[in-house]
Amino acid sequence: MYKEIKEEIIDVARQAQREGLCKHKSGNFSVLDRENGLLIVSPSGIDREALTTDDMVVMSMEGEVIENISGTKPSSESLMHIAIYKVRSDVRAIVHTHSKYASVFAVLKKPIPPFLYESMYLGCEGHTVPVAPYGRPGTDELAKNAAAAMRTGNACLLEAHGAVAADPKGIREAYLTACYLEELCEIYHHVLSCNGGKEPDLLPAEELSKWSYPSEIKIG
Ligand SMILES: [Zn+2]
Repeated sequence: MYKEIKEEIIDVARQAQREGLCKHKSGNFSVLDRENGLLIVSPSGIDREALTTDDMVVMSMEGEVIENISGTKPSSESLMHIAIYKVRSDVRAIVHTHSKYASVFAVLKKPIPPFLYESMYLGCEGHTVPVAPYGRPGTDELAKNAAAAMRTGNACLLEAHGAVAADPKGIREAYLTACYLEELCEIYHHVLSCNGGKEPDLLPAEELSKWSYPSEIKIG
């Protein structure tokens, strides 16, 4: 089942590892087939380089494993993916990382305000990335808190844990959102460090909503 989707998820998982967003087996990835109510999710505890399509797991939205060809367990954070898909009927793919700079602000419980244009790509309310309150990894509490934080946006931080990114199109777009989030957090960290801990000026929501492709560029 879902060979192409499994291959795409593995490809993105390896890219995330190479680019430093998901080191040492951390993080997990899923795609939802909404029509059939099945999600294809990365397994728990397998090195990305060794990962094959047989290791990928197909689950129902009730948490039941439908297919695990090589006998792997789905990621322990699958319940969080399911909870987010339940509150966001538009989302098709989710990437969860423990990326470094996002984790710094997740530990500090510090939302990421809109200070760069990248903020507008994340679709968060007020262009501010929220922090979901702490829930122990793998628990219902984490799943509920993450789903509540993702109700209106495509990214959030998880207190004392990491970050989540989602997208209505697919896993590559969800990964790009995770990359934008990590970059924003890295720059925010440097801005605060260079500014004596003082907050930078923020971009007003009105300004962020005004961006459009320049009409002066003529195509075709
Ligand atoms: Zn995690």
